[in-house]
Parts: sequence; structure tokens; C-alpha cells
Amino acid sequence: MSKKIIRIQNVTKLYRMGNEVIRAVNGLDLDIYQGEVCCLFGKSGSGKSTLLNLIAGLEKPTKGEIIFHNHHIERMNENQLADFRQKYVGFVFQSYNLLPTLTAAENVMLPLIFKNVPVKERHERALKMLKAVGLEGRANHKPSEMSGGQQQRVSIARAFINRPQVVFADEPTGNLDTKTTYEMMDLITGLAKENHQTLVIVSHDMELSEYAHRIVVMMDGKIKSIEQKTMDENTGKDGGEEV
Ligand code: ADP
Ligand code: MG
Repeated sequence: MSKKIIRIQNVTKLYRMGNEVIRAVNGLDLDIYQGEVCCLFGKSGSGKSTLLNLIAGLEKPTKGEIIFHNHHIERMNENQLADFRQKYVGFVFQSYNLLPTLTAAENVMLPLIFKNVPVKERHERALKMLKAVGLEGRANHKPSEMSGGQQQRVSIARAFINRPQVVFADEPTGNLDTKTTYEMMDLITGLAKENHQTLVIVSHDMELSEYAHRIVVMMDGKIKSIEQKTMDENTGKDGGEEV
């Protein structure tokens, strides 16, 4: 097994709603390994999105430690978290989260603008990335001029353009049909494999499990089960049954 990239230790996230306290994540421990495709499954409300947001530095835990390499995410202030996200992580969301007034190429190059990459290089890298996701002819299209699958391809290009160490995806295929779902999963896992990047994918759709190296099932803010599938070093895919 490869080395641990993220350690989640006794993490709790509480939400207060009036007099009620919701334990969205409840004293959870989990390690994420470099280069793995880790799928987080569970019913709606089981705490998957909350856990993902905590690991990705989008939200702060109420209690516990989240250690990325040697960086304690739970100790970072907002500026440090923003730097951390820019440097190390990419995101893919169910609703794509593209900026509607920008073209596909402009959306893809956004992470490079924050990193002060020169204009010419930004354009070149965005076009290259769009090509990699199969959208060569769509660089100047706005999100409203593209299908859902195409918009998700743009968001995948944006997530990967900085070569982040970890890409987090929250229900990335939730709005897509079955055929497009498989295309998107092939694309995400293929890109991640090229650069030995780590993928953490949240879904309630068990169909995605065939892409997972490890399946973590959540229930009531806790881990219900973890299934380690064999990881083929050569293909990066599940080794499956051997004859
Ligand atoms: P999942 O992604 O598995 O559907 P979530 O992590 O979104 O689950 O939610 C876990 C629990 O936390 C749910 O009961 C949900 O209602 C609650 N929750 C999530 N986000 C908030 C919030 N911002 N404020 C209050 N409660 C929340
Ligand atoms: Mg969710």
C-alpha cells in the first residue's frame, strides 16, 4: 500500500439548528492513500459531503485533526486554507459550478489566474486541458451553450489544470445519464492515473464502485464499512478476478 496523504483523526462536525445539534460527522477516523481512488458512499444525510468539505479545507471541524502531508488543516486560518486549496486540491461538483459569463477556456484557466500564471501560458494550458477532456472545439462556448456532460468536462479540466495532488468530487455524476456517467468516470480516473493523483469521490450511486480502489461506506456521520479492492500497480484499476 502506498503512503498516506491525508490522515483524519477523531473528526467531528456539529451543526446547530436552533436547539438541535446535528452530528454531521461523528468522531470519524480515516486515512487517504496517495494515488488511490477512494469512493465515499452512503445514504443521503449520512455526512459524505460534510466529510469531503472538511478534508478539502472548505469547512472547519468542530473537533479532531485533519493532516495533509504534515499540514494540520484544522489549525489553518481562512487565508492559509485558501492557499492550501489553490496549491494542493481540485474540485468537481454535481452542479459543475462554472461561471456562466465566462467561456469554457476562461473557466478552465481560473485556477491559473489565482496563481499568477502569465496570460499566454494560461491560454495554452487551458486549450491543452480542454483537448484532454475532449472539448477541443468548445473553448469559446459559454456554459449555457453546452450540454451537462460537456459542462462537467469543463469543470474536470478546471479541477486538474493545476495538477493538484488530490481531486475531490461530490456527486460528480449526479446530474448525468448512465452513459455520460461512465464517460466522466473514465475521464476523471484516467487523468488522475496519469499523474498519480489521489481521488476522493462522494456518491450515493454504487455503480461508481467499479472505479474504486477502496470503498468507504458512511452512516450517521460514521464509517460503517471499508472495502479494500485489489489495486493493480500497472493499470491502477481494480484487478478483478484472476483466472
Ligand atoms: P450527505 O452528503 O451524505 O447527503 P451531508 O454531509 O450533506 O450528507 O449532511 C449530513 C447531515 O448534516 C445532514 O443531517 C444534514 O442535514 C446536516 N447538515 C449538512 N450541512 C449542514 C449545514 N450547513 N447546516 C446544518 N445542517 C447541515
Ligand atoms: Mg451530499
